[in-house]
Amino acid sequence: MAGTLNDTPGSNRLHIGVFGKTNSGKSSFINAFTHQEVSIVADIAGTTTDPVYKPMEISPLGPCVIIDTAGFDDTSELGERRVEKTKLAAEKADIAVIVVSQPDNEWDITEELKWYQFLKEKNTPVLFLVGKSDIDPHTEELISYIKEKTGKKALAISAETGAGIDAVREELARLVPENFGERKITGELVTEEDLVLLVMPQDIQAPKGRLILPQVQTLRELLDKKCLVMSVTTDKLVPALAALKEPPKLIITDSQVFGYVYEHKPKESMLTSFSVLFAAYKGDLPYYVEGAKMLDSLTNESHVLIAECCSHAPLQEDIGRVKIPRMLKKRAGEGLTVDIVSGTDFPEDLSDYDLVIQCGACMFNRKYVLSRIDRAKKQQVPMTNYGVTIAHLTGILDKISM
Ligand code: SF4
Repeated sequence: MAGTLNDTPGSNRLHIGVFGKTNSGKSSFINAFTHQEVSIVADIAGTTTDPVYKPMEISPLGPCVIIDTAGFDDTSELGERRVEKTKLAAEKADIAVIVVSQPDNEWDITEELKWYQFLKEKNTPVLFLVGKSDIDPHTEELISYIKEKTGKKALAISAETGAGIDAVREELARLVPENFGERKITGELVTEEDLVLLVMPQDIQAPKGRLILPQVQTLRELLDKKCLVMSVTTDKLVPALAALKEPPKLIITDSQVFGYVYEHKPKESMLTSFSVLFAAYKGDLPYYVEGAKMLDSLTNESHVLIAECCSHAPLQEDIGRVKIPRMLKKRAGEGLTVDIVSGTDFPEDLSDYDLVIQCGACMFNRKYVLSRIDRAKKQQVPMTNYGVTIAHLTGILDKISM
């Protein structure tokens, strides 16, 4: 896994979720494991309902996000909300740690097994830890019991003495999903010394004084790949092309000006958009392309869900809230219903929708986006993303390099 604390955006870090019942010793384990105070109460005073996401560098794992969650057996008034938040954390976890402790020798791990099953269904590697091994004389029996119920070997740890913590690091390193962190935004499209032109309109939607995350991440990757990169606003596309001795190998554009760039690009240059690149980087591009076919079948009665990961106030000509709904209604009829959700809001039940359109999701980790896609797949609801939608609606999806 490449990268350091300074150059790895949170969404690209290995997410390690730590789960367990209230008082199982989760927070003490995290503090011992990270040598830091990461506990829920310490970090967000007064809001013990929300998991704490703590980015840090952990040897030998590299840049990680440790997720400390509320106890999943919470039966308080706020319990339901806590469990929902814990579930969300479980959807984001690349690896899960379940801390079990049975100080009264109760032998009841029903809740742990329920969560183990949930994580297993998401193909998330799980490590069981038996906490408080320094004071619990039944640790070995509990380890055997977990093995009997799950087939998994649990590790004994003591946050108090630090016993077993090194073994946890080694085991977690072994559980890192294959090829984690090796995926490239631009895939195999370009390599060293290839000329790449980025078209980035700095319009009303662009934040003042900075570039948006997909642009920054793509630019950084191209520089790491030692590509020759040129960036322009849409109005400077033609002069930029005229100034170049040879056509760029690849043009990456903001989806909103796809049509314009396609019309003006040299025929030798490949074309894609930031959003299409992120569809493959964070999600499942073939499913998105397949889902885009649904755009042709939408009618006046159809119901579409737009999921935008950033929660910002709607802007004039906002792509997710204004432009895409307008394009859809123009095609399917004004009666078409569009629901918009933002942030981590994403309905459990998608069956009312004919199509889900996701943004580029650059703020989320891949695991979480794939779990959304998985939900859509299981409910047989087509899903696509902004870039693929715009490319399809402007009739150039088949002309895009993927
Ligand atoms: S998370 Fe979505 S809405 Fe936010 S900047 Fe990335 S692509 Fe745009």
